[in-house]
Amino acid sequence: MNLSRFFTLAEMTRSDTATRANIPNEPTQTEIANLRALCTSVLDPLRDALGGPIKVSSGYRGPALNTLIHGAKRSQHVEGKAADIQASGKSILELFQTVIRLNLPFDQVIYEAQSPTVVWVHVSHNPAGNRGQIMRAEFENGRAVRYPVISAETALAMTDPNVRRDGVVPEWSYVEAADEPEEVEAPRAKPTKKQAAKRAAKPRPAKRAARRTSIKTKSVKSTSAKRTSVKSKTNRSKQKRRR
Ligand SMILES: [Zn+2]
Repeated sequence: MNLSRFFTLAEMTRSDTATRANIPNEPTQTEIANLRALCTSVLDPLRDALGGPIKVSSGYRGPALNTLIHGAKRSQHVEGKAADIQASGKSILELFQTVIRLNLPFDQVIYEAQSPTVVWVHVSHNPAGNRGQIMRAEFENGRAVRYPVISAETALAMTDPNVRRDGVVPEWSYVEAADEPEEVEAPRAKPTKKQAAKRAAKPRPAKRAARRTSIKTKSVKSTSAKRTSVKSKTNRSKQKRRR
């Protein structure tokens, strides 16, 4: 079944991991609609711009598959909103920068390329609205552990340590793996308009909170000492004024 001009449902749901573990990886109608939106809004125009095929290393991940690979709890892959992609003859960085340069309607785009088995661009699209968040995964022991958000300017200035000096781009291998920050669950955690307004109305700026913490950590003695010194200062200034 075709989802868009260039992408089929089969390639968006195919998973070596699921096949090996004999896990069915079948999206619901809602998830298929999300996959279709991702393909038509982001992947098709990207494919057009690249002028060559895009390989989807991991698209839709059913809950069982997501659990198996220890994916983020509310992974956008599970909703059919994300795909991990590679492109033959293109570096991962080029692919990443092209998504940004084309100003595609992405929710998140993540550069994942510091491990021999995690080599792809993660890109997501949310039909309900897109944050345009750009991230660069940081790895420890072959696993992505942090996802700092970077600006488009920083992303476009990045250079690729994976490209050989002769400019030849190797074929990318990969092992399907967790590749999103847990914060992806944020949409639901975001305060509602009402809550946000309530918070804004409260006169509790950071300064006050900071002072409260410092009092807590300081001993009673030092607090009272401070008070005394403030008092004596006041007295001194009063004396000054009297003179
Ligand atoms: Zn991904």
